[in-house]
Amino acid sequence: MATSVKLNTGAQMPVVGLGTWKSPPGKVAEAVKAAIAAGYRHIDGAFVYQNEAEVGEGVMAALKDAVVKREDLFIVSKLWCTFHEKSTVRQACEKTLGDLKLDYLDLYLIHWPMGFKAGTELFPLDSDGETINDGTHFLETWEGLEELVDAGLVKAIGVSNFNREQIEAILNKPGLKYKPANNQVECHPYLTQEKLINYCHSKGISVTAYSPLGSPDRPWAKPDDPTLLEDPRIIAIAENHKKSPAQILIRFGVQRNVIVIPKSITPHRIQENFKVFDFELNEEEVKTILGFNKNWRVCPMQWSTKHKDYPFNAEF
Ligand code: NDP
Repeated sequence: MATSVKLNTGAQMPVVGLGTWKSPPGKVAEAVKAAIAAGYRHIDGAFVYQNEAEVGEGVMAALKDAVVKREDLFIVSKLWCTFHEKSTVRQACEKTLGDLKLDYLDLYLIHWPMGFKAGTELFPLDSDGETINDGTHFLETWEGLEELVDAGLVKAIGVSNFNREQIEAILNKPGLKYKPANNQVECHPYLTQEKLINYCHSKGISVTAYSPLGSPDRPWAKPDDPTLLEDPRIIAIAENHKKSPAQILIRFGVQRNVIVIPKSITPHRIQENFKVFDFELNEEEVKTILGFNKNWRVCPMQWSTKHKDYPFNAEF
């Protein structure tokens, strides 16, 4: 089983990475250090997680202790929605690089296809509680990302939470310089994304699965929401393999040729989540798990459903 996926840029992207959304500033540096010590070479971050300086501390510590070299790491960040104007893309990327104390990113993604009003508020809301549109189109934002590649600030660029039509719009953009290398989307047994994954792979675009464990620590979780890690059908498969439910969920993604980025700040879980290369789900098990799909989303971005570029009204 390959431990990395080849991007359309030629670079290798490790198939298991550490997620960092909700990892508190006081904990995330240690989590990053623990992950690198456990063998992770891919760290997934974003400006909007407000912890990039501490993520950078963890990375720096590993580099300083000579645990890894910079070129062995694959560092991902994302452009937040309030920086969609082409003229603000570079400053946003430079802020992230400054916080991480790095001189390049391996992959930089447009976090969402929707632009929000520029300013200090990350979620500028109107009186109805809806995010305020900035009037940009993501094709202009994409040009800003292409310039980052040319400036040497990022090795590869991609998108996140884009639907098929939105990806197609980029691929068909007149004068397109670089194709997206990756689409990072929510993906787990309750949202299997078969059509979107097939579409992306058919276009040479790799897919990263976010919230692969069902994001039990998401701030808007409700008591009667489904809990993937406690699903008895997942637990039964885990028991058969003498593995944990989390390992089954991560392996399920990896076997679908998808990159998986479980988040944890708990050292023993960080280690556990990386031990997914010594067993295999059989075809029947993969088929069974695909059957658990119910198009249930952890991240519906409920404040933006009226935005012109809201991605989740389309079938996929
Ligand atoms: P995950 O599905 O990765 O779940 C994280 C939760 O699972 C945490 O509560 C963690 O607890 C717990 N957990 C981790 N490992 C185990 C284990 N082995 N056993 C039991 N519980 C475990 O959720 P996320 O939503 O954080 O998604 C992962 C990453 O994807 C994010 O952190 C972020 O980097 C990215 N993401 C990107 C989005 C986008 O829009 N592009 C949106 C959402 C996520 P603890 O930490 O306490 O150990």
